[in-house]
Amino acid sequence: MGQGSYNPYESAQKQFDRVADLIGLEQPIRDLLRQPSREYHFTIPVKMDDNSTKVFNGYRIQHNDARGPAKGGIRFHPQETVDTIRALSMWMTWKCAVVDIPLGGGKGGIICDPRTLSKGEQERLCRGYVRQLYKNMGPNLDVPAPDVMTNSQHMLWMLDEYEVLTGAHYPGTITGKPVGMGGSLGRTEATGYGVIYNLREALKVLNIDIKNTTASLQGFGNVAEYAARLYTRLGGKIVAISCWDGNDNKPYTYRKPDGLDIDQMAKIKDSFGSIDKQKALDLGCELLDGDEWLSQDVDILLPCALENQITPNNFGKISKQVKIICEGANGPTTPDCDDLIKERGIYLIPDFLCNAGGVTCSYFEQVQSNMNYYWTKEEVLEKLDQKMTAAFHAVHQLAQDKNLYMRDAAYVIAINRVAEAVKLRGWV
Ligand code: NAD
Repeated sequence: MGQGSYNPYESAQKQFDRVADLIGLEQPIRDLLRQPSREYHFTIPVKMDDNSTKVFNGYRIQHNDARGPAKGGIRFHPQETVDTIRALSMWMTWKCAVVDIPLGGGKGGIICDPRTLSKGEQERLCRGYVRQLYKNMGPNLDVPAPDVMTNSQHMLWMLDEYEVLTGAHYPGTITGKPVGMGGSLGRTEATGYGVIYNLREALKVLNIDIKNTTASLQGFGNVAEYAARLYTRLGGKIVAISCWDGNDNKPYTYRKPDGLDIDQMAKIKDSFGSIDKQKALDLGCELLDGDEWLSQDVDILLPCALENQITPNNFGKISKQVKIICEGANGPTTPDCDDLIKERGIYLIPDFLCNAGGVTCSYFEQVQSNMNYYWTKEEVLEKLDQKMTAAFHAVHQLAQDKNLYMRDAAYVIAINRVAEAVKLRGWV
């Protein structure tokens, strides 16, 4: 949430400056892209259940919309900061650009703790947010989605308020809606499957048969579970999964050298992605320390839980056998690890390419909502595969041609695309 000394906005600007230097970006374009185009800061008065009125602070930040309407989630968090939202809006611009979807980057948030609010209070908060923003959002302006501590119900209340205020149906205003109420089939699978479409292509270019590979996974939530399902379906073997244990308040690694049965493991996890320790032991899993997922003798590491998990302090634990790191989570390796990954010659699939399946499917949801015509799950996943595969190969090819690290190649493509749109529009 941008607490303490780490400021995500400064870090997003530093990353941008480094790539801007690398590609010799002209000064006016740098000045435009290293900060958001527009910021809305507003207050939201909410009638509470006890008849008092509480005032919340809300934000929506549109980093850039040269390639299309801004796109990005709305977060509810007690420690939300404007700088976190600025950074996330900038990262959304690069993520949409690297997978070449015609959208820009945005992010929003409300400083609040939804766990302490009743359902009615949450609904009034969502509606109040839209009342403040509706003139500056919409299918052709800025399209929000769920994010930290927001869900499909929040999105539907927001959409309903928008439609009441504008007097017509605009389901393409918001994504992450429930299926049957404008949501897209395939969204649940999209991010995890997108991770594995990237991995599948990486293995092809490295000439490795997926059936001969093993992997270790951090996390067993939405992204990790669907990544594990597709990877094992394609013939790979997951030997370890690390996840949080809510009872013991620490993570554990569950290991089976012969390969974990993902269906079975999914049956013994709760809705927060925590595996039931006793049931896992009953299934014959070994129980190891939470960080042991990192030191397994596997070909592939799939960090799909949270940020800052692979650091210079624990990098030495990574087995010499590891050939690929697939960043399913956002920011799972700290920036000071990039040189170590390069030195070891590990092939990295950077987060904003690797986990872009989610936003790509949100884009498909918006397209379907705007048409008011919905595709089958197979159609959605097929289109997703095509997009992710094309994006992967564009980044891989540039990395090969210019001898770039994969993360740098992904940034170069994304920033160049946005810079080009800005120039073509005559903004600079
Ligand atoms: P989730 O809340 O469904 O799952 C998180 C998982 O991480 C859980 O299994 C939890 O047990 C585990 N975990 C938490 N702390 C841990 C620890 N210390 N050690 C080991 N495991 C731990 O979250 P998710 O939606 O799967 O998202 C995972 C990551 O992917 C996040 O970084 C998120 O920002 C990113 N991401 C998600 C999506 C999406 O569509 N869900 C899209 C893009 C990026």
